[in-house]
This record gives sequence, C-alpha cells and structure tokens, in this order.
Amino acid sequence: HSEEEQIEDYLFKIVLIGDSAVGKSTLLARFARDEFYPNSKSTIGVEFQSQKMEINGKEVKAQIWDTAGQERFRGVTSAYYRGAVGALLVYDVSRRQTFDSIGRWLNELQTHSDMNVVTILVGNKFDLKDSREVTTTEGKDLAEAQGPFFIETSALDLSNVSVAFQTVVGEIYNILS
Ligand code: GDP
Ligand code: MG
Repeated sequence: HSEEEQIEDYLFKIVLIGDSAVGKSTLLARFARDEFYPNSKSTIGVEFQSQKMEINGKEVKAQIWDTAGQERFRGVTSAYYRGAVGALLVYDVSRRQTFDSIGRWLNELQTHSDMNVVTILVGNKFDLKDSREVTTTEGKDLAEAQGPFFIETSALDLSNVSVAFQTVVGEIYNILS
C-alpha cells in the first residue's frame, strides 16, 4: 500500500514566523529535504510542507507552514495562525533588528491563535560568527522571560535544524497525549 493510505496518529500544525530574510524558508527546506526526503523539491510557492516523524512509537505528522514572503509588506493573516499548535519564532543572530521584532511576533501569535501554542525561539545564522549582533545569552534571557524554548541554528551548515523542529513536535506531543 502507498504511504498516503497510512493514517497517522497525530497531525500538528506548526508555523514559522519572524522577520523577512531571517532564514525561515531555508530552515524548512533543510529540515524537509536533507533530513527526511532527500528527493523533494524546494518549498517555493508552497503553503506548507508535511513531515512524518516518530515519537514514542507513534506516527506524528508535522504540517509546517511557511510564509510566501508577505511578512515583508503586511504581516501574515489570521488564516496562517489558525489551528496552529506550535511555532518557530526565528530571528537572525547577525541582525539585531530581527531580534527586537520577536516581542511583536509573539504578540501577533498570541492574538491570532486560539490555544496555547508551543513556541521555540530560534536564533538562526549561527555560522556568521564574525558578524554576530545578538549573543547567545541575550537569546536565552528572552526565551526565559517569554516562555519559549531556545536554540541557535544554522540552516547553512545544518546545525541544530532538526533538533529545533523536533523540540516543538515532542513538546506538543507531551502536552496533547
Ligand atoms: P525568510 O525570508 O525568513 O524565509 O529567509 P530565507 O530562508 O529566504 O533566507 C534569507 C537569506 O538568508 C538567504 O539568502 C539564505 O540563503 C540565507 N540564510 C538562511 N539561513 C542561513 C544560515 O543559517 N546562515 C547563513 N549564513 N545564511 C542563511
Ligand atoms: Mg521565506
């Protein structure tokens, strides 16, 4: 039988949010392509990408939503957030402005989502060591104040990319199961 015929035990909607060019689409493409589906195409123009994962012997499908770049102009719509149970709040460690926006993104998430969303604060572009503008400690402190988990990633060299997604999915699973 085909993979489509299998019914997964859980389906979790997860949204990627954060300023333009912080690396949201690259993180998703890396997670999807390099870690799980070596032959899948890039995510351009696709609203979400689904990834099957196994947690405690259960099949979990993470439906990960990416913006089509609309955050640059008018922010994302409420439809984007609807039904989300997890979120990756992404900033770029080499651009402080993107870190300063996190509070606003968190507010928007809380305003539009109808439940408690499991969030992880993601400091991406960790590989840009010479142009870092936000320290690891600053990221950790913000995460502690706001509640979300925290991780630094590099979508370029793949550091911590799958861990970031797995942390969110694992925590959602713990809460809902
Ligand atoms: P989005 O607008 O948040 O979806 O950002 P993109 O995924 O389009 O990435 C914006 C730019 O940052 C692209 O040129 C990426 O190649 C680059 N980029 C993404 N992640 C990383 C990273 O971890 N390190 C470095 N050095 N560049 C990255
Ligand atoms: Mg994008």
